[in-house]
Amino acid sequence: MTIDIDRARRDTPGIEHVAHLNNAGGALRPSVVTDTVVAHLRREAEIGPYEAEAESHARVSGVYDSVARLIGAQPDEIALVQSATAAWNVAFSSIPLQAGQRVLTARTEYISNAIALLQACERTGATLEVIEDDEHGQVDLDQLERRLDSDVALVALTHVPTGGGVVNPAESVGALTRKAGVPFLLDACQSVGQLDVDVDALGCDLLAATGRKFLRGPRGTGFLYASRAITESLVPPVLGLGAATWTSPTTYEVVPGALRFETWERSVADNLGLGAAVDYALSFGLPAIEERVTGLAARLREDLSQTLGVTVRDKGVRRSGIVTFTVDGMRADEVRARVAAAGVNVSVTRISSAQLDFGARGLTEVVRASPHYYTSDDELDRLLAALR
Ligand SMILES: *Cc1c(COP(=O)(O)O)cnc(C)c1O
Repeated sequence: MTIDIDRARRDTPGIEHVAHLNNAGGALRPSVVTDTVVAHLRREAEIGPYEAEAESHARVSGVYDSVARLIGAQPDEIALVQSATAAWNVAFSSIPLQAGQRVLTARTEYISNAIALLQACERTGATLEVIEDDEHGQVDLDQLERRLDSDVALVALTHVPTGGGVVNPAESVGALTRKAGVPFLLDACQSVGQLDVDVDALGCDLLAATGRKFLRGPRGTGFLYASRAITESLVPPVLGLGAATWTSPTTYEVVPGALRFETWERSVADNLGLGAAVDYALSFGLPAIEERVTGLAARLREDLSQTLGVTVRDKGVRRSGIVTFTVDGMRADEVRARVAAAGVNVSVTRISSAQLDFGARGLTEVVRASPHYYTSDDELDRLLAALR
């Protein structure tokens, strides 16, 4: 199966304005997403917000079905939240941590997760241990296996980091955590929407993702996957309407399934937009999207490595659609500005958001180019021409 590029570009009005190679920051939306959000906002204005929600009840609950289908889960394993960070936080804070326990993570852990892990360990007396990378620049599986003892409360891993091309071997991590009976929380924020992600194959118990990046959904949307097996043992630290039922003046019951991880109020329009984005991605098929995105990224790495003064910084056996590089003698911000003047969007990742990863690799900043399946070869050429 291959991507119908003409269809993808026809459905993406933003390509008229810019060569958008910042899909890892936020993608250009397909028209169906914008139209879905706007139509619901109009309907709220016409008949009232609650009434508009009731009227579209079937579509609202269909969003859970779509997200579940995207990652090979069941609808009752999905919580819709405001961001990947919100998803990760509510999952992480539901896992009891005690003094003397250990939490394992890797060098590429996302900034907010890393800060929250440090804070939680400071509060509880648990210890955070960072698994080193192997010689390929991905999390070292042998070291992980050796450190997976019964006092490990959690393994937290970022599947695809924000500032590097590696795809961590999450399936192998999942096989190890399953064998050890340790909960596995996967940050799949950069992989969902660009790679064919399946929670059973990954073996994760919890997975956090966002709407606006490779999924091409609205800002302010995200979701948590929590497996049926783990959910009944997890209670979020603060429950409210929707997450629990008030059964008498002095009692409450946590609701079954992943809805316990949600808060009640949400943008229904944006959630419908997320559902439209997922359905749109599924209409191409994630295997085809993955093939196209990783193919474009591989071509870009190859051409960048032939460009004088440019050094590609990506590591890993398997690589994603995120391409990072530096330019000799030029600050990343200057590269971004010059490329922007040529009508190309790229972004910059700094050591301040990758202390463990960049620190170990002697990097302070990189330029990041992240094509998507709707990106054309001409758009990659525009970037390369601007760099030359
Ligand atoms: C962007 C990002 C996040 C945070 O996503 P939000 O939706 O902004 O909360 C988490 N992890 C990774 C790897 C990211 O790139």
